[in-house]
Amino acid sequence: MEIDKTKCVGCGNCHPVCPMEAISLDTDGKSIVNQDKCVECSTCYRLLRNEGYPPILVRIVRGILSFFSLQHMAPPDVCPTGALTPPELEYPRSLRAAFSDPTVVHAGTGVGGRGTEEIKTNDITGRLRTGDAGIVIELGRPGTGAYFRDVEKVAMALSPLEPHFEEFNPVTQLMTDSKTGKIRDEVLDEKVLSAIIEVKTKLERIPEYLQTLEDIQTELDTVFSVGVASKCLSDGSVPHQQWVEKAGYKLSLNGKTNLGLGRPLFKEETA
Ligand code: SF4
Ligand code: SF4
Repeated sequence: MEIDKTKCVGCGNCHPVCPMEAISLDTDGKSIVNQDKCVECSTCYRLLRNEGYPPILVRIVRGILSFFSLQHMAPPDVCPTGALTPPELEYPRSLRAAFSDPTVVHAGTGVGGRGTEEIKTNDITGRLRTGDAGIVIELGRPGTGAYFRDVEKVAMALSPLEPHFEEFNPVTQLMTDSKTGKIRDEVLDEKVLSAIIEVKTKLERIPEYLQTLEDIQTELDTVFSVGVASKCLSDGSVPHQQWVEKAGYKLSLNGKTNLGLGRPLFKEETA
C-alpha cells in the first residue's frame, strides 16, 4: 500500500486498522507505510471509506482548529482525503497480496484467501484416503506475518521424511523442487500475513513430523500452528488421534469434521 502524501492530512485513522502495524506518522506529519512490514492485504484501503474532501480544505480546517487548541474527530472509518493508494504490484511483491488479501484469487489454484481448501473438501476430492494423514503448517499471523525464507526452512526440514507436498497448494507451487522443499530464490524475502504448507503422509509417521516441527521452531522468525487430519472411521473416531497422542500432544477440541454430505469425485479402493 502507498499513501499519497499530497493528499494525506495525518489524521491517523489508518494506523490502527493495519494488522501488521505498518503505518506510522512520518516526520512531516503525514502518514507513511513501511514497505517491508506491509503485506499488501489492502485492509486499510477496504475498511476506510474515502470521504473525498480536498486535502487543502481539510488542512485549513485542522490548522484553524489546532490554533484554538481544538480538534475535529473524524469518524474512525474514513480516510478524509482518499490518500490510501493501492499500487500496481509486480511479481514477486504481488505474492504478498495473493497470500494476504482474501479478495485476491490465487492464479495457480483458483482459490482466494490462503489459496487452499485444505482438507475441508476431502469428502469430494478424496485426497486423504484410509490410512493417510494430512498435516498443515500455517506460518504467520496478523501482527507477525511470515517471510517465505521461514516457510522454506520448514518445508526443507520436513523433506527427509519424504512428504508428499500437496500439488494444489500455492506454497508447493512456489517450490523449485517438491522433493527438497526449496522455494524460488526471488520470493524468499517476500512477507505475507500467513502461508500454509500442506503435506500428505501415512498415519504412523505423524510423530516424526511433529518432532521435526518441534526441532525447527526455534530457527524461525515467526509463529506457526499445526493441524492434523485423517478420514474418520465408521464409528466416528479419528484415526490420527492415537498418533498425535503418541507424540505427546492432545487433540484440540476445535477440530473440524466433514459430515460426508458431498458427492465424492473418487472411489476408495477396498482391500
Ligand atoms: S486515513 Fe488517510 S489522511 Fe488519515 S493518516 Fe491515513 S492516509 Fe492519511
Ligand atoms: S495493505 Fe495491509 S499491511 Fe499494508 S498498510 Fe494496508 S493494512 Fe497494513
